[in-house]
Amino acid sequence: MQAGPMAGLVAGSGGGAVVMVRVIMLSPPGAGKGTHSRWLTLQTGAAHISSGDLLREEVARGSDLGRQVASYTDRGDLVPDELIFRILAPAVVTAARNTGGYVLDGFPRTMPQALRAAQFGADLALTSNAVIYLTAPEDELVSRLLDRAQRDGRADDTLGVIRHRLAVFARETAPLIDYYRGRGILLELSTNRAEADVQADLLNQLQARGLMSPRATEPGPDHSGQAETTLRNS
Ligand code: AMP
Repeated sequence: MQAGPMAGLVAGSGGGAVVMVRVIMLSPPGAGKGTHSRWLTLQTGAAHISSGDLLREEVARGSDLGRQVASYTDRGDLVPDELIFRILAPAVVTAARNTGGYVLDGFPRTMPQALRAAQFGADLALTSNAVIYLTAPEDELVSRLLDRAQRDGRADDTLGVIRHRLAVFARETAPLIDYYRGRGILLELSTNRAEADVQADLLNQLQARGLMSPRATEPGPDHSGQAETTLRNS
């Protein structure tokens, strides 16, 4: 699905142009942003850009930058904004150029990041058209992350670090909810229900805003009736 990235348009199933999604997934750890970002990516052809995945790749490379990154991520602290921009900005520009859209998973996470992202988006005509805020009760978030720890063995999925990441979310990231609500682009969804229900709700909300191609309402390749929320990099 190639498209003119600046216009953010792609060919719809009827041959007409439709708006390509450029969305931010905003949620506390464990609410399902990785899972639903991947799904939305498959539905739309927009690039999935996970800040956490990019950081973990850098750590795995064992570079100096990676060692710096790990000193924050292992404790559940946020990586400083400058480092995040250095790693993320080229990925966003390339991905948006290649696909015409993006699903930003895990960025922005602080008000300074959000303000800088807004400026960056305006400068490059890549402004986000929706922010998807996923919610679930805190005990559910903790239990999903502990399950994931057993499955994936992520260094930051230990109970102490999970609790710290939730506190960091409340302090640093939660203010973004009102910021985006005030800009009229916030969509709020509970993920405390079957994954298929979350996806149907998400499609409805995106369609209501004219952000999804009609093609995307047909079952996608991964839409195989899974009832449980699977959670990898959320
Ligand atoms: P995630 O995979 O989204 O849960 O992110 C894992 C960790 O990467 C977080 O706990 C932070 O330490 C770091 N991280 C991810 N995204 C950001 C960001 N936008 N700003 C600062 N740190 C981040």
